[in-house]
Amino acid sequence: MLAQRMKNLKPYVPGEQPKDREYIKINANENPYPPSPEVGKAVKSFIDGNLEKLGLYPDPDSKELHAAIADMLNKTGGVLSRCQVNKKEVIPSPEDKLPFTVTPDMIYTGNGSDEVLSFVFYAFFDSDRPLICPEHSYSFYPVYCGFYDIPRLPVALNKDWTLDVKKMTELSNKNNSSTIFANPNAPTSLAMTRAEIKKMLDESPKDRVFVVDEAYVDFGGESVIGLLKDYRNLVVVRTFSKSLCGAGLRSGYIVANPDLVNAVTTVKNSLNHFPMDAVTQVAAVAACRDVSYYVECAKKVCDTRADFISYLKERGYTVNDSKTNFVFLKKDGLEGKKAYEFIKQNGILVRRFDTPGIEEYLRITIGTQDQMNKLKEIMDRL
Ligand SMILES: *Cc1c(COP(=O)(O)O)cnc(C)c1O
Repeated sequence: MLAQRMKNLKPYVPGEQPKDREYIKINANENPYPPSPEVGKAVKSFIDGNLEKLGLYPDPDSKELHAAIADMLNKTGGVLSRCQVNKKEVIPSPEDKLPFTVTPDMIYTGNGSDEVLSFVFYAFFDSDRPLICPEHSYSFYPVYCGFYDIPRLPVALNKDWTLDVKKMTELSNKNNSSTIFANPNAPTSLAMTRAEIKKMLDESPKDRVFVVDEAYVDFGGESVIGLLKDYRNLVVVRTFSKSLCGAGLRSGYIVANPDLVNAVTTVKNSLNHFPMDAVTQVAAVAACRDVSYYVECAKKVCDTRADFISYLKERGYTVNDSKTNFVFLKKDGLEGKKAYEFIKQNGILVRRFDTPGIEEYLRITIGTQDQMNKLKEIMDRL
């Protein structure tokens, strides 16, 4: 009874959400801090004062939200943890200051960056040539390739877990292909610099779309939004789920040249004219407008991360440098599966992948300092 195309579907498996007991959940890279109180106030006043608005379709073009996102990016330069806050005023680090003003027509929003990514795949990646991506990166990319019947050329990472940029550019030229990767990458937590990505863009096909997924960049990476001025084939994907403490909102976006934004909008309008609901739009606008709150959250996550990494290093763990809200670690002689299970029995969920090559590693989200202290007590007994 199933359509032929169903055979290509291998659905994404998210971090588990068991209900059998209360776990400390540091397995899905959610932010341990709640959204800004302004988000709560905005949602409450929207519902209290305008309930009839829920009976109407939301703005299909999400104009207010696109303006709020553009404004936030212009204020922050696109990397929260590197900003300074002075009495709620946010000042980007000088290196991050954008060389142009992001305009609302450069923004497209959808129900989480997962949906946005699926439209990006549909709009830009063809079935007649392989998509270039790292072997280990966000595990949704292969899922969408199966969904849209896009061939994929995964490129093995270097021994130090960095991307094999030389091989990736070589293959993208050979096939005149698009490229996608996360920067910082998951689950490795390593980041490329803006200059490194600029060089990669210079050496990749100019007439194929090049996607950088910046889900984690706010925790210390370098955003490539500033490169949009010179690279019309660049698409930057971002999300409210990690640094904007809003995984439950389901809100993600791209920043790109208006031509590419229009192409993705055409995909959306061919599937579901109204993808983001009115309440989420109100919440997301309020989040963008209180960005100083999220700068403080990102800084707290970075401080806790530094503390946890030194804990791990003191105890002989191998751990990558992290520019994300998680760490990727292992210890010689410690079986990944056993470590994962021991930690789970003690009430904490972390992430482990059965993927060959990374089975012995754990990917642990940075929680609050208190949560990480509890984890340390458990790990002391490993
Ligand atoms: C979490 C994550 C996403 C998905 O985010 P949502 O906006 O919650 O759909 C996309 N890309 C990467 C690399 C991620 O880690």
